[in-house]
Amino acid sequence: MKILVINCGSSSLKYQLIDMEGEKVLAKGLCERIGIQGSRMKHEVPGQEDYIVETDMPDHSVAVKLVFDALTGEHGVVKSVDEINAIGHRVLHGGNKFTQSIVVNEEVKKVIRECFDLGPLHNPANLMGIEACEKVVPGKQNVAVFDTTFGMTLPEKAYFYAIPKEYYDKYAIRRYGFHGTSHAYVSAETIRFGGLDPEKAKVIVCHLGNGASISASIGGKAVDTSMGLTPLEGLIMGTRSGDIDGAVIQFIANHENKSVDEVLNILNKKSGVLGMTGISSDFRDIEQAAEKGNHMAEVALDAFRYRVAKYIGAYAAAMNGVDAIAFTAGVGENDKVTRRLVVEQYLGYLGAKIDPERNDVRGKETLISADDSKVKLFLIPTNEELAIARDTQRLTK
Ligand code: ADP
Repeated sequence: MKILVINCGSSSLKYQLIDMEGEKVLAKGLCERIGIQGSRMKHEVPGQEDYIVETDMPDHSVAVKLVFDALTGEHGVVKSVDEINAIGHRVLHGGNKFTQSIVVNEEVKKVIRECFDLGPLHNPANLMGIEACEKVVPGKQNVAVFDTTFGMTLPEKAYFYAIPKEYYDKYAIRRYGFHGTSHAYVSAETIRFGGLDPEKAKVIVCHLGNGASISASIGGKAVDTSMGLTPLEGLIMGTRSGDIDGAVIQFIANHENKSVDEVLNILNKKSGVLGMTGISSDFRDIEQAAEKGNHMAEVALDAFRYRVAKYIGAYAAAMNGVDAIAFTAGVGENDKVTRRLVVEQYLGYLGAKIDPERNDVRGKETLISADDSKVKLFLIPTNEELAIARDTQRLTK
């Protein structure tokens, strides 16, 4: 069975064609600048030179058509679209309607549309991707895999905000959590790789990338997660502030004569380590600056790691214990210093001990804790595309 995985942004489309026998990536690529001048597609097939197409892509349907042409044409990996069994789509927000991935029908599209408010940047693009596939390859099953479904198992005490209940009733304002596909995949993989109890294992996953979030799960089911109604809550990120006193919004709005929308834009796009340092949202740049003695770069890294550690502490308490902590995503998979400092500076009280030699690794499933560590520590690379493909296979078999 071959599954095409599509992740649409407002002006981009990422794809992977995965052969589910052996879970091998046959081809992957990226269409950029959709709807903008200078659109371009890069199509990669392992072992071959990249195939670049520079042509107008006025909308996502044109991009999807180019993707299918690339997959089946001269640089293709299948003879015809018939070989592609189904399409899995990443969808950001499913509101509180979907507790699982689902085969797309008119009702599902309606709900994705109703959630535009909750995911204004992503949901419209995700729906465009689905509709483009329906148009270009009619009759193929499309599956929506939501970032929010992992958070649907959160207990009420974890998902309710302490604000008037009417806002939940009227607008479904609650904590949802994001990066759900990654947290679900990494927590399951931690249990499998670590040989932990599949029903009872208490696992904390630190997804530390440009966007960053932490989850606590028992037997792979989420009990808490750090992002909220939107991805703004929780950790300090590349450009997002994470947790903040709501009064800061009012204060900046009043003193800088800005609207709430403008301040939210600042908190989402101009804050985090970028805002603190004024240097970059990329953690490698911040680390370089810190090495050269830039004080705010040092503070930003310290604050980032401190917040990660505080959440780990909170989640160990939430679960009344923790068996394993897994690090994933760009920083989690590549930055051994951050992993080491989080554990050494803050997690000694849990009996967590990192093994510096085992920790000297990048992007590979590895046990990084010492043999006498009371909590197992892992590096587990995330693979959201594979998780989407697995769900799509399960639902369309
Ligand atoms: P996203 O998918 O949210 O865009 P990623 O998971 O790809 O993010 O992570 C990107 C981040 O990972 C960047 O900030 C990048 O600097 C960071 N990163 C990658 N490699 C390293 C490294 N060796 N050390 C520190 N940070 C790294």
